[in-house]
Amino acid sequence: MAYDRNNIFAKILRGEIPSERVYEDEFVLAIKDINPKAPVHVLILPKGPYTSLLDFSIRASTEEISIFFQTVAKIAELLGLQDQGFRVVSNTGDHGGQEVQHFHIHLLGGAVLGKLG
Ligand code: 5GP
Repeated sequence: MAYDRNNIFAKILRGEIPSERVYEDEFVLAIKDINPKAPVHVLILPKGPYTSLLDFSIRASTEEISIFFQTVAKIAELLGLQDQGFRVVSNTGDHGGQEVQHFHIHLLGGAVLGKLG
């Protein structure tokens, strides 16, 4: 699937749609989810044009992938989640229920989360 420059997160990255930013650097943006499913629910996205986790894994450089996941860990610490824990989810494709076609992960925490499955 080709990257659509008009997806919601692309517009947020360009500042065309407002968002509550919790972290930003050259490569990564983290924003509060507009419809939170946990006391802490943050979306973390690389700034590069990747459609999904699969696309990111295949096309991004090893350095980009490494920086991205190091930054996810940094943001979890920044939000004070490191001791009590958290969950990371990446909905991928139709069966994964992915709504926005710009790769992102959900960082959820702040309470005991329901078991998956
Ligand atoms: P996914 O693609 O991972 O299934 O879900 C996309 C997530 O983005 C949803 O949890 C949804 O609540 C969130 N979302 C959709 N539109 C916006 C928006 O305009 N701003 C923010 N902050 N979150 C959004």
